[in-house]
Amino acid sequence: MMEEIIALLRKSETLLVTSHANPDGDAIGALLAMGLALKGLNKRVTLYNESPIPAVYRFLPSVDAVCGDIPAGQRFDAAVVLDCGDMTRIGERFTLLKEIPRVVNIDHHLTNTGFGHYRIIDPGACASTEIVFRLLKRMEIPIDSDIATSIYTGILTDTGSFRFANTNAAAFDICAEMVERGVIPHEVARHVYGTYSLGRIKLLNMALDSLEISVNGKLSLMTLTRNMFEETGTHLEDVDGLINYAKRIEDVRVAALIVETRNGRSGNARGDVRRFHVSLRSDGSVDVAAIAAAYGGGGHAAAAGFGIEASLADLKLRIIDWANGL
Ligand code: AMP
Ligand code: MN
Ligand code: MN
Repeated sequence: MMEEIIALLRKSETLLVTSHANPDGDAIGALLAMGLALKGLNKRVTLYNESPIPAVYRFLPSVDAVCGDIPAGQRFDAAVVLDCGDMTRIGERFTLLKEIPRVVNIDHHLTNTGFGHYRIIDPGACASTEIVFRLLKRMEIPIDSDIATSIYTGILTDTGSFRFANTNAAAFDICAEMVERGVIPHEVARHVYGTYSLGRIKLLNMALDSLEISVNGKLSLMTLTRNMFEETGTHLEDVDGLINYAKRIEDVRVAALIVETRNGRSGNARGDVRRFHVSLRSDGSVDVAAIAAAYGGGGHAAAAGFGIEASLADLKLRIIDWANGL
């Protein structure tokens, strides 16, 4: 499949490159690395992401080339979709892909639905940026320091700085090569982990304050509501990494973080029903991708998520009930 994808990319003139909404370092790193590589081949490339780029990733090269909208009527020979387990992860505009004659799906999620005409899906890859790296190598595209920084950041963040279960030999090999190609690790770390807004620290305080533990001690649960975001002047991007505090607690096997993603509806029969995103992390003994998939989401065995409309009380009960059966 890789050879077919290479032939397709070489013959395409206009390309859409995109990754999932509310992007993490891997989604942005893969988007930028792929975009820079294709631009180097003199392709007309549109880099699209539905959400604003989180502040901590705004140092990345060419980040301003990512647009949050696609001009109406624009035609593409092909699309490259990165780090998305299913098409809808792109966001509201996912239906646009139906109008593009060739769609390439590059991803490492266990739950990938296999959408698109061409795919490289490797759950053994530590990050989508690992697969992008392999593709660029096979295409003999030179990896300059800008591409290297994007790939390095994707692998660094998706492996939780080489701490998570997806950390493989390739993560170290590729990152070592990226450093040889000009990446300065302490500078990347300073941007990604070293500089937080005051609001983000206050949000962390609220997240810690919301902590609940199931009776059997196997689940830790944190909750962030719209009110907390408003009070601290923070956004969804500021949630990144908070769940790891819940996951670290002794004896906890599964950590859950409930995040209210939209303001509640009022005045209808389902009064207190609101929209939430639930992030799940496990210590490896529980497959959280399976439970996320049961709720229409997905992910990896040790890190998964899903969206749901429910009342907060009901959602918490469901999660705690499930955990008490662990
Ligand atoms: P998060 O819960 O956003 O920290 O994401 C954890 C992992 O689960 C990531 O690999 C996501 O791509 C995946 N994931 C999160 N939410 C969803 C969803 N609604 N559908 C499919 N995969 C998801
Ligand atoms: Mn991602
Ligand atoms: Mn990823």
